Amino acid sequence: MFQLSETHQEIQKMARAFADKELKPIAATLDREHRYPGEQVKKLAELGLMGVAVPEDQGGAGLDNLAYAIAMEEVSRGCASTAVVMSVNNSLYCDPVMRYATLEQKKSWLEPYAAGRKLGCFALTEPGNGSDAGAASCTATLVSDAGGEVWELNGTKAWITNAYEANAAIVFATTDKALKHKGISAFLVPMPTKGLSLGKKEDKLGIRASSTANLIFENCRVPKGSLLGEPGAGFKIAMGTLDGGRIGIAAQALGIAQAALETAVEYAKERKAFGEPIAKLQAIQFKLADMAMRLEGARLLTWRAATLKDKGAKYTKEAAMAKLAASETATFVAHQAIQILGGNGYVSEYPVERNYRDARITEIYEGTSEIQRLVIAAAVLKEG
Ligand SMILES: Cc1cc2nc3c(=O)[nH]c(=O)nc-3n(C[C@H](O)[C@H](O)[C@H](O)COP(=O)(O)OP(=O)(O)OC[C@H]3O[C@@H](n4cnc5c(N)ncnc54)[C@H](O)[C@@H]3O)c2cc1C
Repeated sequence: MFQLSETHQEIQKMARAFADKELKPIAATLDREHRYPGEQVKKLAELGLMGVAVPEDQGGAGLDNLAYAIAMEEVSRGCASTAVVMSVNNSLYCDPVMRYATLEQKKSWLEPYAAGRKLGCFALTEPGNGSDAGAASCTATLVSDAGGEVWELNGTKAWITNAYEANAAIVFATTDKALKHKGISAFLVPMPTKGLSLGKKEDKLGIRASSTANLIFENCRVPKGSLLGEPGAGFKIAMGTLDGGRIGIAAQALGIAQAALETAVEYAKERKAFGEPIAKLQAIQFKLADMAMRLEGARLLTWRAATLKDKGAKYTKEAAMAKLAASETATFVAHQAIQILGGNGYVSEYPVERNYRDARITEIYEGTSEIQRLVIAAAVLKEG
């Protein structure tokens, strides 16, 4: 646990080198221009990073969740927007398809996605409900079509990452409202498809190079065989998927924090005030100490959650702790980094203002910090 295996060290080295060479130099431009990192995602696919923990015979790299967390951190250290594209495809799309799809479904819905030739998205949130995901109002109804029965989807999914580039979505819709969350099912929906349109691209504070938009379903028909998992199992699939997703977002937050810390350290050694580098000032040293300590703590929580997932153990509480600690650390570290850079921290010539903007989302998506606290408290109360 405290010493990464040789394989994990290699992944870390490879992803770090990729981030330094291919992501760091372009991240500010991608952010400024709201430009999707298409070429960078293609290269991630060549490195096997779009389906890290998917077995090789199913299109992935055949590694584990710890390798995924390590690679995610490094990619995010280079560009947090590119990292969220990678994270959604790995943990919110490939992971549930790998766990719940039939062998037949996997051929077309997993292999090309895990190999990175195609991109997936995950559509749970709706305009009327985010944290309260069990209150889904999107509907799926079995109707007769020329070739037999099909599912007809109606409603709107909100804030969907990768909406503009995805080739498929996992869509959660209710087949029986009276059953509440137990009436929700998961569907594999190709994109584009008739009856599905996209809302405007959201103009975001951070991760601006990734697309986020509504998916609008109007009598959108998909084959009867599009169900992912059992009917009514959608809520369980969504919650289980988010447990794993939180490890990815924790790792994304670590990468943002690491990038901000590195900039702050470098700057503090060079910038002089009152005749000496500001790194000599105890006020600056205390900030760096807190930043480094919180980052290390959050990293250990993240690696522990990933390791538990790899062992097949329960990890809901640990993933929530990792995400909570890492996301609040990212905001804290980026905030402190701006302070250390003074005026230079506040302008886009230095990356810390982007780190600060990018950090903020990690406290919101895949469960807000308040929801992570609820998950942790529920587990703690149960254990006690
Ligand atoms: C950039 C971006 C990308 C996203 N990508 C995706 C995606 O790919 N797929 C997807 O399905 N969703 C996605 N989301 C949606 C995201 O997961 C939700 O925004 C998030 O879960 C919060 O839901 P909400 O915005 O409806 O806030 P709400 O649920 O309305 O919460 C508002 C506030 O109330 C608090 N709150 C709510 N309930 C409780 C409670 N019980 N106890 C204490 N506090 C509570 C929240 O913590 C928050 O502070 C994305 C969002 C953004 C901004």
